[in-house]
Amino acid sequence: MSIQNLTILGSTGSIGESTLDVVARHPDRFSVFALAGHTQVEKLAAQCRRFQPEYAVAADAEHAARLANLLRDADVKTQVLHGAQALIDIASTDQVHGVMCAIVGAAGLPSALAAARAGKTIYLANKETLVVAGALFIDTAKAGGATVLPVDSEHNAVFQVLPRDYTGRLNEHGIASIVLTASGGPFLDTDLAALERITPAEAVKHPNWSMGRKISVDSATMMNKGLELIEAHWLFACPPEKLEVVIHPQSVIHSMVRYRDGSVLAQLGKPDMRTPIAYCLGLPERIESGVGALDFDSLSALTFRRPDFQRFPCLKLAYEAMHAGGSAPCVLNAANEAAVAAFLDGKIRFTDIARTVAHCLDKGFSDGLSSLEDLLALDSETRRRAQAFSDGLCGVKTAMAV
Ligand code: NAD
Ligand code: MG
Repeated sequence: MSIQNLTILGSTGSIGESTLDVVARHPDRFSVFALAGHTQVEKLAAQCRRFQPEYAVAADAEHAARLANLLRDADVKTQVLHGAQALIDIASTDQVHGVMCAIVGAAGLPSALAAARAGKTIYLANKETLVVAGALFIDTAKAGGATVLPVDSEHNAVFQVLPRDYTGRLNEHGIASIVLTASGGPFLDTDLAALERITPAEAVKHPNWSMGRKISVDSATMMNKGLELIEAHWLFACPPEKLEVVIHPQSVIHSMVRYRDGSVLAQLGKPDMRTPIAYCLGLPERIESGVGALDFDSLSALTFRRPDFQRFPCLKLAYEAMHAGGSAPCVLNAANEAAVAAFLDGKIRFTDIARTVAHCLDKGFSDGLSSLEDLLALDSETRRRAQAFSDGLCGVKTAMAV
């Protein structure tokens, strides 16, 4: 078996660390070629000492200098780079076979696109890539001969239960619908009136999954499931009307596919991202992930319910953006990223996230934006709008507090 050279973008994050945990279990299969960790240079330095990559990429010159300094006395061959072009380079170089795209947010788009253009095997955790630029990314991957493997647990589950020869034509495979499961997050049963007083610390405490801060807030608003609908739409060439969301608070069933004959196939497992990561990395083999067996004796019940748009307005906004198509999902994503950041900074209330996204979607969006430059310009413009709106809400929050 030949060793696969990997680039891990976002190596210091939750998915990045889980990926390195799986990689470390299989030194005979994988070698780490490059790591990218943005501003968390201490963690990145520790990863460089352990995995000895050829390259490590930090956010900017200052962080790169700090990283180089941390590695100075260690017996490490790693060359330190920085900036957006370096991310593109380590994602597309001929020396790499597989690229884990685990940067959070639209910031992960240019490097994911570069990997697609270069025909890499792409392990896609960064769902925002498909939300912001679904058509562009899928077309680029096809033209570049890239293989896109879904890391997101729901999409990974669907991928596992789709027919092996799935071509993207649902009818030909007898598929009636794709059912994404959602935990419902920490506020599934919280009194609706109490939602506006939710603090960032409460919002990032997910009942089942341990994840980065942004996606944890997205899970609490269910924007995460909205982004995942759009992700599934592009990954599986599935029309919006054949995508369902069902709340399943135990997070044991990670998603399902309904077939024409009445069968429903599901993938089950513990809520640990090392399972979908190992599935993607090991394909076509099943490899050890470090995740323990699912204990049926401790599962008292698997329950299901439909999402309530009054409690989860972000999910409704995502459905609307998916149906609208064009650049609406790009606006949805940028507004959400800006609003979540403002909420985590204590500037706006939890319930203001949906208000901000709705405001930006109301401002309208043009259809037919197709280049990376167009989409990034719309992303920046929307962030400015969201920021201005949040600043107004921030005044309301302060006034309420006094
Ligand atoms: P995280 O916040 O834990 O980590 C994010 C990583 O991106 C870090 O390494 C950080 O240094 C890097 N980063 C942040 N901003 C950057 C920028 N501007 N440029 C370059 N690098 C930057 O996030 P996470 O939970 O690991 O999620 C990563 C991605 O995977 C997200 O798109 C998320 O939606 C997706 N995802 C995560 C999970 C999960 O369980 N954590 C599950 C499914 C999908
Ligand atoms: Mg998910």
